[in-house]
Amino acid sequence: MTNDAEIVLDAQSIAKSFDRHVVLHDMSLSVARGELVAIIGPSGCGKSTFLRCLNLLEVPDAGTLRIEDVTVARDHRGGWSREDERQAHFLRAHVGMVFQSFNLFPHRTVLENVMLAPRTVKRIAAQEAERTARELLAKVGLSHVMERYPLTLSGGQQQRAAIARAMAMRPAVMLYDEPTSALDPELAEEVLQVMRALDDEGMTQIVVTHDMRFARAASDRVLYVEGGHIIEEGDPDLMFANPHDAKTRRFLRTLL
Ligand code: ADP
Ligand code: MG
Repeated sequence: MTNDAEIVLDAQSIAKSFDRHVVLHDMSLSVARGELVAIIGPSGCGKSTFLRCLNLLEVPDAGTLRIEDVTVARDHRGGWSREDERQAHFLRAHVGMVFQSFNLFPHRTVLENVMLAPRTVKRIAAQEAERTARELLAKVGLSHVMERYPLTLSGGQQQRAAIARAMAMRPAVMLYDEPTSALDPELAEEVLQVMRALDDEGMTQIVVTHDMRFARAASDRVLYVEGGHIIEEGDPDLMFANPHDAKTRRFLRTLL
């Protein structure tokens, strides 16, 4: 990442506790347009919570978050103004999220799933929403199943539909929380191909993953998280070959 690259997502000093349990300590991450950032770390270290803070599914206790030109901030008392709430609504619409469990609407066809948010949130006309949805479904290889209901599809197809649905909102950044963990390897590969294709198009993406091969081969940068801290970040080849921090080394060794 060069210094003058345009920063699409800038999270500074994000903190989050549940009751007295501090889950995230002061986590900061700036992502440039077109970057693919992989977040790795042991289970329970706060990866999902961090990702959820980046689209305000969880409201951070402290820190600031900027997506393109929309900024929301909490002060040290957790203050959150009405203006911030409006900003938060706007910000969420600019972040696409894909979950491990697909989360498609089961009583809507694949095409309807992809059309729904642009229609209801952005009030896009039906014809235009359908045209965009068809284009996106073609791109993820689902033209032939778009009139079907999600549960009649393979897991890999459902996850690709979920990516198309998120992309339909024209997000500035896509977030993925273990998008392939529920999938057999060949179905996972279909999903990873879609993410690679989006990367080639210049999409900005952050993915929490256990797939170290994908993190190493496809990402521009890897973050190693443990205990709610970013322990180490850097170039994937360098980090996997020669982790600087003893904690990163220990984690990577457990995967061998
Ligand atoms: P990871 O995704 O790295 O496995 P999570 O972010 O899901 O980790 O969880 C980090 C910690 O925060 C865990 O100890 C988890 O139990 C706790 N946690 C996450 N969400 C909640 C919640 N809504 N309420 C209470 N504790 C939570
Ligand atoms: Mg998780």
